[in-house]
Amino acid sequence: MVNLQGKTALVTGSTSGIGLGIAQALGQAGANIVLNGFGDVDAALATIRATGAQAVHHAADMRHGGEIEAMMTMARERFGGIDILVNNAGIQHVAQVEDFPVDKWDDILAINLTSSFHTTRLALPGMRASNWGRIVNIASVHGLVGSAGKAAYVAAKHGLVGLTKVTALETAATGVTCNAICPGFVLTPLVAAQIDAIAKRDAITREAAQARLLSDKQPSGQFVTPEQLGNLVLMLCSPFGDKVRGAAWAMDGGWTAQ
Ligand code: NAD
Repeated sequence: MVNLQGKTALVTGSTSGIGLGIAQALGQAGANIVLNGFGDVDAALATIRATGAQAVHHAADMRHGGEIEAMMTMARERFGGIDILVNNAGIQHVAQVEDFPVDKWDDILAINLTSSFHTTRLALPGMRASNWGRIVNIASVHGLVGSAGKAAYVAAKHGLVGLTKVTALETAATGVTCNAICPGFVLTPLVAAQIDAIAKRDAITREAAQARLLSDKQPSGQFVTPEQLGNLVLMLCSPFGDKVRGAAWAMDGGWTAQ
């Protein structure tokens, strides 16, 4: 078991899906949790508090640097610092480059990439001062390879892997590590929307659309789970993770092995 008693973890976009699963794992390991994101905040807080962890929520919109700064200040005031930063907030939109809505491009770059620059630059001084910190960027297989129709997402996730490498190099001689995790398909609201779109486009059932989505890309034929990703984050937060630096760690059922 990884013991994170006395540590504080901020997980962006943690009211649902992967972020909530990661926050749950960190809470079970004893960390204080700062949640962020929209939707059913009370349910997310209840899920984390059920682990015995102390949890608060901040509704910062990851598109806005000023709101991110306010969230980081609140976390420091409430818990004294941020030891573990998980940059997870993300959105998706699927369209060909020439049809890609410009406002969607701007939002995806802001939420999936630029927000991590802001949280990282604001968290690093405290981590350096205590000579311990963990920054985990939830990228994607799309930080390593492309897929048609996902220009903004693939550009942002490749950028996030790049930010991970530079942050890891700048902190290489310290107790702060920075790594990216690159999941394949995980069955969350973000992917459910893509399954619904395939079902509609191909006039097939949801189950058939789900199987088609997986068989196109993910050799395991199974979704990765938020719990499995939470356990990988715990490993990176443990002493076993001390020398894992600047990695882009795929957990993708074999997607990028092809
Ligand atoms: P999700 O839609 O279930 O959750 C996204 C979270 O981000 C929610 O808490 C939502 O409220 C929050 N969010 C959205 N816009 C926000 C904003 N402007 N400001 C603050 N919070 C905002 O999605 P998910 O599938 O759990 O995705 C989480 C991360 O994992 C994303 O970065 C995504 O790119 C990445 N990822 C997902 C998959 C997958 O298959 N689901 C695969 C690889 C990577």
